[in-house]
Amino acid sequence: MSEPVKLTDASAYESFLDKYDTFLIDCDGVIWHGNNVLPNLREALSVLRKKGKKLLFVSNNSATSRKGYLKKFKKLNIEIHDGEVFGSAYASAYYIKNVLKFPKEKKVYVVGDVGIIEELESEGIRYAGANEDSNFDTSNWDYANIKQDPEVGAVLCGFDIHVNYLKYAKAFTYLNSNPECLFFLTNDDPTFPANGTVYPGGGAIAAPLITALGRNPDGIFGKPNKPMLDCIIQHLNLNPERTCMIGDRLDTDILFGTNGGLGTLFVLTGVNKEQDILAKDARIIPDYYMASLGDFSIL
Ligand code: PLP
Ligand code: CA
Repeated sequence: MSEPVKLTDASAYESFLDKYDTFLIDCDGVIWHGNNVLPNLREALSVLRKKGKKLLFVSNNSATSRKGYLKKFKKLNIEIHDGEVFGSAYASAYYIKNVLKFPKEKKVYVVGDVGIIEELESEGIRYAGANEDSNFDTSNWDYANIKQDPEVGAVLCGFDIHVNYLKYAKAFTYLNSNPECLFFLTNDDPTFPANGTVYPGGGAIAAPLITALGRNPDGIFGKPNKPMLDCIIQHLNLNPERTCMIGDRLDTDILFGTNGGLGTLFVLTGVNKEQDILAKDARIIPDYYMASLGDFSIL
């Protein structure tokens, strides 16, 4: 097991950057915290672009589609081009359609937000649930009124700020009553950071379904799982040896990089801290680490 190398000065930054042509960059905790761009980040990204590096932004947050991310980057005044951003909602839609060849006549029942809907629509996948089940009259609750759509052939669960019992009851029943119905998660992050602390993430939204069903999902698409990387590779020709994943979470970003045979750079601006590298699992020990991606701005 090799020791991670800490990058602390300009010459170490230069020789690290020389090793890679492409950087997959996690968003929250690396580029921004919520809506706040981290210090010197814009300048650091311009250094990478000036050096001719290919940049791809990769986020597990399923609440936002690629279109939504492009808008967010522009609003935060960070240079970005079409095709440079991949979210777990897009990876899910891409995988369901192109790899799993989900039948065109079937629908996906969605426990999730607008990002998932936009990406399913972009891939031409029919869906049910999401917004249509976000509001219901609790005073008239009756199990006999929970209608099932016979065209549903899969359940996709992601982060959902409007999650409620109706959505759980429907999703559970589709899966419980039909062994052929597929069960997917956009991502399974237990938490995500916001407002100086952490809150329940996509994995926590899915946990009640997993408990009730007593089984694990058939597919989880976001980091650290391979569908996200396969989705990126389908769009761009990447040489894994010349590609580095940059992230703030060891169990998602760094594991994603090592699973894919990529180099890995861990930054200390997000969820995990320097002492977490001492974890015993070799797959989540990064190749490199540094205080902040913004530090490349000195070059
Ligand atoms: N899931 C949700 C719901 C989030 O809001 C976030 C970050 O804001 C994440 C996951 C983690 O996203 P990333 O992969 O960009 O760190
Ligand atoms: Ca992150």
